[in-house]
Amino acid sequence: MNDMKFNTKTIHGGQKHEEATGSVMPPIFQTSTFAQSSPGVHKGYEYSRAANPTRTALEDAFAAIENGTRGFAFSSGLSAVDCVLRLLNPGDEVVTGDDLYGGTYRMFTRLFSKYGLKFTFVDMNSVENVTEAITDKTKLVWLETPTNPLMKIADIAGITAAVKAVNSEIMVAVDNTFATPYLQRPLDLGADIVMHSATKYLGGHSDLVMGALMVKDAELAEELHFIQFAGGAVAGPMDSFLALRGVKTLHLRMQRHCENGKAVAAYLVKHPKVAEVYYPGLESHPNHEIAKNQMDDFGGMVSFRLKDESQQAAFTFLENTKVFTLAESLGGVESLVNHPSTMTHASIPEPERLKIGITDSLIRLSVGVEDIEDLLGDLEAALAK
Ligand SMILES: *Cc1c(COP(=O)(O)O)cnc(C)c1O
Repeated sequence: MNDMKFNTKTIHGGQKHEEATGSVMPPIFQTSTFAQSSPGVHKGYEYSRAANPTRTALEDAFAAIENGTRGFAFSSGLSAVDCVLRLLNPGDEVVTGDDLYGGTYRMFTRLFSKYGLKFTFVDMNSVENVTEAITDKTKLVWLETPTNPLMKIADIAGITAAVKAVNSEIMVAVDNTFATPYLQRPLDLGADIVMHSATKYLGGHSDLVMGALMVKDAELAEELHFIQFAGGAVAGPMDSFLALRGVKTLHLRMQRHCENGKAVAAYLVKHPKVAEVYYPGLESHPNHEIAKNQMDDFGGMVSFRLKDESQQAAFTFLENTKVFTLAESLGGVESLVNHPSTMTHASIPEPERLKIGITDSLIRLSVGVEDIEDLLGDLEAALAK
């Protein structure tokens, strides 16, 4: 089973038919508890916060697609981040990127800072920026690549090797939400933990909120499972069923996301009203070479900046797309458009936001799997307004 190709793993990885009936898909075990024949004597399940068979099927699929040994499903992406942070103790330090998902930044600075964790934000474009920020208190390096929304690329293998050379005890965690394991597999590149907002590409249909963690190391898996169980932010059986159904078409959807993303980026680069396009597949991307090395393709997320820097110009565009829906989130089959500075990244204080380049003229697209002619036509019409 371990030597399955990725496009087989999405469908069969970690899966088995249900034993009682042969049901090919796992039933939705919509139950909180499980009967015991004598105290402590049961069939492997006691209470659904600890484990539920539908969630187990999904967690085994999560582990398989990231080449891990264990997977964990949470009630949101942020509760998966929360689980990782709870491995740390007061006084510990985290080195992380300066262009993080807004909610991750908010959790680090507003929730965990007050429990005595210290966060250092660096530009992860260069490996040295990371190693220079490490102190003897550093316990975790948290990477996101490509980043949201500026599509910066961090060299996962390079950073992991450099961090481990300084201190092999420091854990490296990668938020792989934008790339998905279809494009890059951080555990194979040396990272200890992979995190996903499964709300996005893994679920893939904008119909649930969920988080995932995947690991290789058995001891680390036990610690994370304890925190998942003790903290309690687990994914429910119905959502687990839907996410598992989503994972089974991940490779098909991602292939089209990549094709459409590439076409949209190429279109925007040539448009006279567009100042800059952020897409790791473009040769002009500052870390295109690293992206080419660590990713199999470049995904469906494209950000761009309008030449007209006024908020009104951006709003006019955002109010006039018809196929692209103006909404937060990403990674579903339908195309979405988002205004980071007032929507997804509004929680980052303005001076920080402007410093890293999240200005009013920046627009982020989650390019869906619709017909590319309709997508380009929609952009053309909205840019003409
Ligand atoms: C959405 C997102 C998250 C947070 O996940 P939720 O499911 O919304 O809690 C974290 N990281 C990235 C890159 C995201 O896009």
